[in-house]
Amino acid sequence: MGHRTRLIVLGRQGAGKGTQCARLAACLDVPHISTGDLFRAEAAAGTELGRRAQAFLDDGRLVPDELVLDLMAARLGGSEARAEGYLLDGFPRTLAQGQALFEVLGRSAADVAVELHVPTSVVLPRLAARRVCGSCGATSSARPGDPEPNVCVGCGGEVARRTDDTDQAIRRRLEAYDRQSGPLLGWLEERGILLRIDGVGPLEVVHCRLLNAVGNRVPLAAGEDDVPDDLVGAG
Ligand code: AMP
Repeated sequence: MGHRTRLIVLGRQGAGKGTQCARLAACLDVPHISTGDLFRAEAAAGTELGRRAQAFLDDGRLVPDELVLDLMAARLGGSEARAEGYLLDGFPRTLAQGQALFEVLGRSAADVAVELHVPTSVVLPRLAARRVCGSCGATSSARPGDPEPNVCVGCGGEVARRTDDTDQAIRRRLEAYDRQSGPLLGWLEERGILLRIDGVGPLEVVHCRLLNAVGNRVPLAAGEDDVPDDLVGAG
């Protein structure tokens, strides 16, 4: 089998990262691994890990690195996970997580890391307009003058602003992202694997920018991967 892409995608809240990651993973034919989704699934299933993460998920704080690393070791530790490639959405999010990822999986942990860059002036109104359906969870965007609460076009459920989407809370989360991911971005840049992509523009245009950038960086077929022996068969 040829080399399967291993990709990290970073971006601030409201940058459209979730949507772009889903499409990009489909194009690259690799699993889309979102730590947020994995945590929500663990919490819904009531596992020990899920219970410990719940309070952090509820108020939008980062889950402690130790829990995140437990979760990701279980998902990425096996040689199979690396063989089939992946798109990591929302991990790593701190320098410590990035260092742990490369320490454990070696240089082949990621071929490339992409930051989807969108300035605060663009993400603030996007997040303020974000509405989530209470029934199906679909995200939509409120237009000025829309009645509140509105109904979901998909299922007819009631859509509302997320409780953590107040202007002040949004600013706090964006500041937290800059503070925590800033050192990680610098470190990935030093490793020579960081690409910064302009995330402003129509969905299709941003998708093409991502695909072009990643396609130019990822080898179509690579030789042997430098997989450390101690990891083969682990997990
Ligand atoms: P997301 O769906 O990416 O917005 O993530 C939802 C929530 O999951 C975040 O607010 C954090 O509580 C948690 N989370 C997801 N990924 C990470 C990570 N890499 N490190 C710490 N917490 C995370």
